[in-house]
Amino acid sequence: MNDIQREPALYIGGRWVPGGGGVLEVENPATEEVTGVVPQASAVDVDTAVAAAQAAFPGWAATPVVERAALLRRLRGVIAERADLFADTVHREQGSPPRVARMLHVDTPLAVIDAAIHALERFAFRSEIGNSVILRQPVGVVAAITPWNLPLHQVVVKVIPALAAGATVVLKPAGLTPLTAFELARAIDAAELPAGVFNLVPGSGRVIGDHLVRHPGVDQISFTGSTPVGRQIAVAAAETLKRVTLELGGKSASVVLHDADDALLAKAVKITVGNCYLNGGQTCTALSRLIVPAARIEDAERLAAEAAAKYVPGARLGPLISAEQRKEVETFLDPATDGPSTRTILGGAAGVGGSRLPERGHYIAPTVFSRVDPDSRLAQEEVFGPVLSILAAESDDDAVKIANNSAYGLSGAVWGIDQDAAVAVAARLQTGQVDVNGGAFNPAAPFGGYKQSGIGREIGEYGIADVLEVKSVQR
Ligand code: NAP
Ligand code: MG
Repeated sequence: MNDIQREPALYIGGRWVPGGGGVLEVENPATEEVTGVVPQASAVDVDTAVAAAQAAFPGWAATPVVERAALLRRLRGVIAERADLFADTVHREQGSPPRVARMLHVDTPLAVIDAAIHALERFAFRSEIGNSVILRQPVGVVAAITPWNLPLHQVVVKVIPALAAGATVVLKPAGLTPLTAFELARAIDAAELPAGVFNLVPGSGRVIGDHLVRHPGVDQISFTGSTPVGRQIAVAAAETLKRVTLELGGKSASVVLHDADDALLAKAVKITVGNCYLNGGQTCTALSRLIVPAARIEDAERLAAEAAAKYVPGARLGPLISAEQRKEVETFLDPATDGPSTRTILGGAAGVGGSRLPERGHYIAPTVFSRVDPDSRLAQEEVFGPVLSILAAESDDDAVKIANNSAYGLSGAVWGIDQDAAVAVAARLQTGQVDVNGGAFNPAAPFGGYKQSGIGREIGEYGIADVLEVKSVQR
């Protein structure tokens, strides 16, 4: 039987208060059963939350860095103590298999919190230029609007650096995955952060999210989600000239250079497939385009099919978040609509490749297409499902050109025997992150996008800087 998490109240001003916006049922996408019921905020609740964040701001901004760091460390301790609970909550509302839920959805956010605290303790809030003292001061109230794909991580990358900087926060989590945000609110309450520094107002993006974006009491919007909604938010926020940080979609390329030997090609393909399929293919950084030398395409196809076949739906491969999202992903699964050269290597519309889908849950078969036209929809649009496209390049320069032939620029990878040459190629990619030869995710490094993948940077020192104003005082 399915335990239903019932949340009675919103978290505003350090108290649990009833919500005026009705209730929302949360579906477990792996079982299609209701796994939670949460209250939604009304516009009036949002006004109350913004007022609470405004009231808490002066005191929190003036709290010494050592005290803010100590409180955030206490919060980190509470989350770590409750790691199993957080992992189980993500597993139930987002569908990730338990191991993925723990490592990707809990351990990574914990590392991000550690890095933010570390950065806070070393941050230069005061510096000097000639006769000026430069003060970096928190912006005020930050409204965080987050997506469903990483229910804890996407919240933590916004909330923790903002709190570290001395800003206060109103969070509107994704309607599909609000349960983890309630666990975070409980952890914040247990860690006894000052009332009002963090407020939780679930509700529809179009209504409650939009109200926050236009709210005169909010100083900055920090949004992660789709590019179309990011664009709408930038326009709406312009009315009050709010600062806007946007983390949007991606169509990231994994580039194998001509000098890669068989072993490196095998490693590149295996890691690219794993990265592309991580979280059911639902990460903004997914390496969804694998670009290989034309002469190696058959090897790449064979290796990708072998690697992809290990992502068994319902075991290693989780479901998509919703029936609606599955329908959206399915529009990419027929290569016939995508140019005559495209070949289905595994999966596709017929789901071939031996992947029997579980009877319940929003699963699709792991899919690999090859010889994909760089200008096709498949190569240009974010799929947000376990769908990899292999593209052939005539040379390393051609590979860079193909990689940069995108409206997006969030992430990327380069593989080459000559490490310096590979790093030089990384510098030519128009993208915010590049991993060379399997370089690991760094929870302290700035994270964000070029082009239509976003504006601003999150995480660590850069995440703190993102919510600071700069003041010059002349003497
Ligand atoms: P979305 O529609 O952009 O939603 C993201 C967040 O924004 C949710 O909290 C949503 O609220 C809210 N929102 C929606 N419309 C809004 C508005 N007009 N004003 C203010 N807030 C608003 O993204 P999605 O529906 O979750 O996913 C759709 C696509 O976005 C995916 O297929 C994928 O391409 C992309 N995506 C990208 C990332 C990323 O990390 N870059 C993450 C997830 C999704 P609701 O609760 O009402 O939805
Ligand atoms: Mg949406």
